Amino acid sequence: MKLLGKIVNSGVYENTPSRKRKTIRIGNQMAIFLSFTFFCHFFLFSWYELTIPKWIVLWSALFQWTIPFLQSKGKYILARLSTLILDCTVIFICSLLVGKASHIYFYYFVAICVPLMLFSKKEKINTLLSYLLIGTIIILDVFLGFNPFVEFNPPLEVQQAISLFVYPIGLTLIFMFVFYLTNESYLATKKFQSELGNSNHLNEELQNVNKALDQFVYSASHDLRAPIASVLGLIELAKSEDSIEKVKEYLLLQEKSLLKLDEFIRDILNYSRNARMEIQREEVDFNEMIHEIFSQHQFNKVPFEIEKMKSVSQNNPFITDRKRLEVVLNNLISNAVRYSNPYIESPYIRVNVKVNPSQAIIKVEDNGLGIDNHHLTKIFDMFYRATDRIEGTGIGLYIVKETIEKIRGEVLVESELEKGSCFTVIIPNLKDI
Ligand code: ADP
Repeated sequence: MKLLGKIVNSGVYENTPSRKRKTIRIGNQMAIFLSFTFFCHFFLFSWYELTIPKWIVLWSALFQWTIPFLQSKGKYILARLSTLILDCTVIFICSLLVGKASHIYFYYFVAICVPLMLFSKKEKINTLLSYLLIGTIIILDVFLGFNPFVEFNPPLEVQQAISLFVYPIGLTLIFMFVFYLTNESYLATKKFQSELGNSNHLNEELQNVNKALDQFVYSASHDLRAPIASVLGLIELAKSEDSIEKVKEYLLLQEKSLLKLDEFIRDILNYSRNARMEIQREEVDFNEMIHEIFSQHQFNKVPFEIEKMKSVSQNNPFITDRKRLEVVLNNLISNAVRYSNPYIESPYIRVNVKVNPSQAIIKVEDNGLGIDNHHLTKIFDMFYRATDRIEGTGIGLYIVKETIEKIRGEVLVESELEKGSCFTVIIPNLKDI
């Protein structure tokens, strides 16, 4: 079986184009079919003691093996044309020698199918040459009345007995070729249809990406320009101001605008890093990570105290993309701080982590401003904002969702207006994945 596979693939190399591969393989498969058929005729003619035809078909059977050999040397056209010339000549000679009543000329119908198998639609010249050859031989045979050497022909009963084999063999070959050709065109249509489906799908995806890009450029340019415009305005005011106190106040306001700009650019960088970079697997100590993030938010962006609590249950090593997880938790904790409620007695943020060998479940909970129910399905969209009470860009949760998807996790949210929110992140342990 392995040897047969080697023969079918001889002449096919790594850099052979896929179209050419197909015709090379068909050429080799035909060589195997025809060699087998000629061998059958060798036994048939031996049985009826037809010496000359017997040796002719034996040599033809052996000659078929030059096709894979020539193809392996890169002589594709020579291999296929020479086999076609030989096959037609053999049918012609056998038809004359074995006699009209053997109906060997029926094999011309088989020969008519062969160029369709051997040459692709683009090889028009080769196909034309092959049909010229087959046509000439058929006309010659008809012209000779299929029976010029009656005296050399075997007895009529032998001829008739051979004809009983010719039809089943010929019809089987024709049936096989027709089946092969229709199957090929069926597969080609199917491939075309699936490629068409794929390209439609790609088109749709491309349109969505285009839309998102449009929206991104529009919103990003607005978010980038707003702080710049505000800084420029403040510089103008400061230029005409004599009081040093006032100038200091304008400088503080400028600093605030520039920090906002810096945060936005950092968000975009996080987003683009997440989209471009491969996953980096690292062991994560949740206790340490959350402690670090909490200390980054030590000096709150809000002028009141927020209690920060953490409870981590981790008894096994946990592997994930550490940097990406940090971006996610940083965004969620930063939001919990920003959207805390200044009017309640004891604002808090609680981070709860449960790690098992297959996954980690992280809950970031606050008793802040909360989110109205009808916004909940949209807050993970790019630039979607659910409130104007606090300044923001609407990109943070989009980055959270995209980043979590990259590390094969999911994020869920529960929230109630004025009561608080709870974001649940479930991520798999990438140890064995
Ligand atoms: P931004 O905070 O810059 O507006 P996000 O994408 O981080 O953008 O959040 C989208 C929206 O979700 C916010 O506008 C806010 O209304 C809401 N939100 C997110 N986190 C919280 C939270 N912890 N508490 C209340 N609202 C939140």
